[in-house]
Amino acid sequence: MPGAHVKTSSVAGKRRAAATDPARRIAEELRAQNERFEAAVENMSHGLCMFDADERMIICNRNYIDIFSLDAEVVKPGIRFFDILQHSADIGIASQSASELYAIRKPYIDGAKPSTYEEVLSDGRIIVISHRPIAVGGWVSIYEDVTEERRAEAELKEQHRRFDAALANMSQGLLMYSAKGRLIVRNQRFLDLCNAKASDFALGMTHRQMLDKLIRLGIFAPLEIDVEVGKTKASLEAGQSRASYRELVDGRTLFVLRRPLAGGGWVATFEDVTERRRAEERMTHLAHHDTLTNLPNRSMFRERLDQALGEAKAQPLAILSLDLDRFKAVNDTFGHPAGDWLLKCVAKRLQHSVRSSKDVVARFGGDEFAIIQFGIKSVADAEKLAKRIVEIVGKPYRDKGREMHVGVSLGIALYPGDGRDADTLLTNADMALYRGKSQGRNVYRFFEPGMDALMRERRALEVELEAALSKREFELDFQPILNIGSGRMVGAEALMRWHSPARGLVPPENFIPVAEETGLIVQLGDWALRKACNVAAHWPRDMRMAVNVSAAQIKSGGFARSVISALAFSGLPADRLELEITETVMMDESDAVLKTLSQLRGLGVRIALDDFGTGYSSLGYLRRFPVDKIKIDRSFIRDLDKRDTAAIVRTVIGLGAELGITVTAEGVETEAQLDTLRKAGCGEAQGYLIGMPTKASDMGRLLRSEALLRHSG
Ligand code: C2E
Ligand code: MG
Ligand code: MG
Repeated sequence: MPGAHVKTSSVAGKRRAAATDPARRIAEELRAQNERFEAAVENMSHGLCMFDADERMIICNRNYIDIFSLDAEVVKPGIRFFDILQHSADIGIASQSASELYAIRKPYIDGAKPSTYEEVLSDGRIIVISHRPIAVGGWVSIYEDVTEERRAEAELKEQHRRFDAALANMSQGLLMYSAKGRLIVRNQRFLDLCNAKASDFALGMTHRQMLDKLIRLGIFAPLEIDVEVGKTKASLEAGQSRASYRELVDGRTLFVLRRPLAGGGWVATFEDVTERRRAEERMTHLAHHDTLTNLPNRSMFRERLDQALGEAKAQPLAILSLDLDRFKAVNDTFGHPAGDWLLKCVAKRLQHSVRSSKDVVARFGGDEFAIIQFGIKSVADAEKLAKRIVEIVGKPYRDKGREMHVGVSLGIALYPGDGRDADTLLTNADMALYRGKSQGRNVYRFFEPGMDALMRERRALEVELEAALSKREFELDFQPILNIGSGRMVGAEALMRWHSPARGLVPPENFIPVAEETGLIVQLGDWALRKACNVAAHWPRDMRMAVNVSAAQIKSGGFARSVISALAFSGLPADRLELEITETVMMDESDAVLKTLSQLRGLGVRIALDDFGTGYSSLGYLRRFPVDKIKIDRSFIRDLDKRDTAAIVRTVIGLGAELGITVTAEGVETEAQLDTLRKAGCGEAQGYLIGMPTKASDMGRLLRSEALLRHSG
């Protein structure tokens, strides 16, 4: 008992006697008891000090000495209580004087005040002191240094305060469940998110009860509570978080995250992600839709097609590839806002054309659209839709007193017949569209197996054609034109020929349309114009040269310059050049084309309307632009023996006379035809009867002899 200070003088005397007699034995026991007491005192965790009735210390333990940092040499059994206080004041552990301390402690010791109280030492430590009176007089004081405990308590309190503050200020709602699955924490934000009162969600509720209440209060949309509870339970038991979106009845969306807690139980946070969700939805919508028409775009179309084809039992469907006809003319004539407006109208009409809301109408860009027609029973279903679309899209579009016209061409590929994957189906539908377009506008075409071969052939033709110009494989033939009244030649038409080493002589019907589409016609036409002018410059002065001109040439810009340059270089007077244009030139409603034509006409160049009667509304075009000549298409001349055809031809001739326009009949092959035309008063004739298209040298000879005849006759 190194630190115990006990008054042992009387005990030592008794110890000696106890060895021999019972009294000695008792003394021995007493001694042992004493030792046990001392051991107990010494080993207790508190400081202990015992005083007798005279306020003298009987015993104290080491802890007591340590708590007050006392000097063990001074504070030992027998010392007076007041002297201990004096010592404490001396060493500065107490902030008060000995008598002040005595006055403070005495009422507690005497029982005048509660037996337990606290004292703060000069070094800030907090000591809990309690005094107990002893039956024989005196008292026991127990001292406990609670500084650490108090600090921990204060820290915990601070932690609680912070937790509460954090909970209250969270932007997320929070619920915490105990290991037993009962609600133990719920913050205000959660209640705010639910527009609920605290009493709606009492602590102690289970997850199941919470969900039930949320649904009954009309906050959550009804859901399978058992399934929901099961899912959460399973993921939490696996130690995993579970996140999900919860749609609220009022349209908002909450993001709910449930996380297991280390000590059992779990936390659920609720975040209002309505705005974020909407923004995300807007973004995905934008990524999948065309901004102008709000139709699905190509990527969405692909997604839907892949999805449909990927299904285990994919049903037959049709892919329709669409391209508007004459849309560019609308854009050029009425401006882009009108073009945009028209595209929106087309989009609406297309959406109305499809029968099933499942069908996908997409815009691929520009004037290209595509449709997936689901659940077709036969080819007839796709054909019906295509017909409907051609009809509906072809109707006029009226806006602000203007009337616009476009047409549409369609290519159709069927699943599974024409392909089993999206790429093949789309390519084949495009191929069919392409074929349709090359044959005329406002049509639909189904894909046919030979088309890809045709397509390859077509590509090869394009490539060869491109090279042919620099290889000088083109030539011009000339066909004479007769003045029926005088029986004399008045000029010739230049007709292009392609002598391809590989293909032989290619007729213009086979290569002009290709050249028009690739744009090569601009160079090719320029070449023909120069060549023709050069040839005509060597002809007699009253012989005219007619040159065919494609719409693409006039539209390309620079056309007037090209004509003027050809005239200047050849020295041919402008009034000896005749440009043959077709209705398609006039159909382009843009002012630029008409301006170019009138500019050339102003120079004296004559304009002839070729293939008259083959279009739809030739007469209407005559009003839009004054021409110098009409060439009646040879299909009319061929059928001249038919009464109604003859009537039409006579009418056109009469019309020409009325307007002061020369009328030329094309494709005159027989004397009978020429006779009829003469009688009807037709001005000029061209055809195999008058002369086949021939080489420049032959034509030159013919025309010169004609001129000689005329001048001599
Ligand atoms: P087009 O301008 O109507 O030319 C008349 C066509 O009728 C020529 O065909 C000519 O050979 C043919 N023809 C003339 N008389 C008769 C006849 O009595 N009976 C029959 N059945 N046909 C007759 P070709 O030379 O094959 O030219 C076809 C078309 O190609 C031309 O029709 C014209 O539209 C176009 N073309 C020809 N050369 C050029 C050119 O240099 N530039 C442009 N853009 N097109 C051209
Ligand atoms: Mg012609
Ligand atoms: Mg013609």
